[in-house]
Order: sequence, then structure tokens, then C-alpha cells
Amino acid sequence: MWDALPDAARSIVKELIIHGPQSRTALAKTLHLSTGSLTRLTKPMVDAGLLVEGEVVHDPVNGRPTRPLDVAAGEHRFLGLKLTAGRVHAVVTDLRAEIIAARDEPIADHSPDAVCRQAKRLLDELSGGPSGGAGVTVAAGVTVGGNARASAQVGGEPLVDAPYLGWWQVELKPLMERELGVPCVVKNDVAALAHQHHWFGPGRGLRDFALVTIGAGIGYALIMHDHLVAATEADLGMFAHLILSPGGPMCPEGHRGCAAAYLSIWSIEAGAGQGLRRTVTYEEVIRLAANGDRVCLGVVREAAAALGRLIAHVATVSMVKTVVLAGEGVELARIGKEELGLSLTANRRDVPGSVEVLIEADDFRQWARGGAVVAIQSFVTGSD
Ligand SMILES: [Zn+2]
Repeated sequence: MWDALPDAARSIVKELIIHGPQSRTALAKTLHLSTGSLTRLTKPMVDAGLLVEGEVVHDPVNGRPTRPLDVAAGEHRFLGLKLTAGRVHAVVTDLRAEIIAARDEPIADHSPDAVCRQAKRLLDELSGGPSGGAGVTVAAGVTVGGNARASAQVGGEPLVDAPYLGWWQVELKPLMERELGVPCVVKNDVAALAHQHHWFGPGRGLRDFALVTIGAGIGYALIMHDHLVAATEADLGMFAHLILSPGGPMCPEGHRGCAAAYLSIWSIEAGAGQGLRRTVTYEEVIRLAANGDRVCLGVVREAAAALGRLIAHVATVSMVKTVVLAGEGVELARIGKEELGLSLTANRRDVPGSVEVLIEADDFRQWARGGAVVAIQSFVTGSD
């Protein structure tokens, strides 16, 4: 049924998934369809059980009694995976990207075949739970940091380079599909997280926004006119090394004051370690800063001010009005919120509130959910 859906029908399903149940008149209006076309497109989907009709309510458009349409979200399951150097984060979601089960475990064996087998076991265990048994897994999305390269292709499939896993030119998609038995999408992790925010997160309903992630690396993605702006690995690498202050700390590439030198976890640890005269973890720096330690607070505030400058650059050049902040280092933005805000405003001609900054929680499940979301998008739109 899904494979045969015309594009107009897919846009109806997409609208319902993102914005929830709606009357036929409201849907027709949003999608610029006549109510007659809408009824003709939705009838076979209702008959096939892809769409369901809710209880009778009064239509907000014309006041007539109507039964709103909704997707049958419970029928389908999606596996989302994020692979890091040492761990695999996994979630199983429904069609609305609601997490049904989640797990985070070490990668036992780094070879691509073994990782695919581990993915299969995780899928079986997560979907075998009390609530998982109701649905059928129909697609999977795997996200990797570093590179899911589309430039080097074999038979149209992107090859994956993931240096931290020791992977070069791995044909991950067919390997994963063979093991899991469902279609699989492979994507860059930051791009997948941006898709997640666009359809199901705080970016829902926004046509334009930017996502900045801070952690071991600095990530960036841009949604423009409802689409992710395609970027190469080289583009993304540039972003991390944008100079924010020529007198700042130094990064491994020898730049003073680039984004990575201020914001990456190793920079924060190094900066605080220098003041404290001992090695210190990021979590400890954040905890000490929250308790008012002068060294840690100083490093965090300096980083937050640099982040404010970075966000100002992003917003000024791309003209987005919303920037979402995420990643395992995001706590520094919360502790240094005041410095971030002051610096952002100062770099925006002193106009306060010209950019909305949404700070997300540091939660591994959101990254894995990004994988599920690209699987959902591929399932719904019929393309990768
Ligand atoms: Zn640099």
C-alpha cells in the first residue's frame, strides 16, 4: 500500500504525522486541495487502515460535525541507531517518533558485520517488549558522526567513512538491510537530528532554523524553506573552525579562538584543567561551575560568550530567527545563559531578542531518535 501512494497522498500523511489529527476541510486548506480531491485521496488510505477517523467534533473551519483524520501511528515501528566510537544508542519508535523502547550499550566488535548483527539483536530485544509486540518494524535509520559520504558511490549507495570506528568506504546500507530485513537509511548524525527537530521537535512548524551541536565536535545543520541544506563534510569541517576571537584558546589545527577551541568538550576540559592545575572531566567542570567555582565558571562563561557570537554569525548570514542548541556539551549554554545572551545581542547591533535560542537537553535518545526520524521520513515520502 505505502509503495503505491501518490505524492499528494503522501503529503496528507506527512501533514497528519507532524501536526496531528485534522478535519478534511482543514487538511484541504493547508495542502491547497479541493475537499473533493482530499476525500478521493484519503478514502483508499482509510479503507486500508493507514488512516483512521476520530470521534465526531465540530469542524474549526466551518462548524459542521466532522470526524478528524489521523494516521494509524501504532501499526508501524521504526528502529533508530546512532553509532559513536564506543557505543550504540538505539530506540524503537512509532510513526510519530514517540519512543517506545530505548537502549544504550557498548559496541562489542567494531567490524561492520558485527555492528549490523548487534543492531539486529537490539531490534529484536527492543521490539519484543510488552508494548513493542503490537507493531511491525518497517524501516531503520542509522546515523554516524563524521561522514556518510554521497560523493563516492557504488550502485548509487553512499559509502560510509567513520574514522572513529575504523571504517573506510563501508557499504553500510546493504549490510544493515540484509541483517535487519527492512529498508535502511544511513545519514550524518547532525543532519538526522535536524530532521528530528524539524518534524517532531521544537523546530516543528518552522520553515527555517539552524541547529548547532556542541560536544566532542561542533556540528551545524540548516533547514531552509522546509528543507535541509545539503552540506559536504568539508563544509561542516569549516564551521567548527570559524574564528570567533583571534586571541582565544588554540585548537589542534593551530587556530586561536575558533569555535572548536572555545566550545568542544576537550577545550573546556583543557581550559579548566589549566586553571585548576589538574585533569578534570567535562561533567566535573559543569558541576563546579554550577557551584560557583571561579576557574570553571570563568571557562564556561567565556565559552558561552563565544557561543553567543557564533549564533549571531549563523543568524546574521543565514537570516534564520531560531537556533536550536543540542549535543552532549549543551549544559555550558544553560550555565552561561546570561553571557550567551549578552554576546548574542552585542553581535546583533544591540537588538535584543532578534534570535530565539532553544537549548535542548543532553539526551542520547534524541540522537538515536534522529535515526528513527530519517527512517520515518523515507517511509512516508518514499525517498531517502
Ligand atoms: Zn580550529
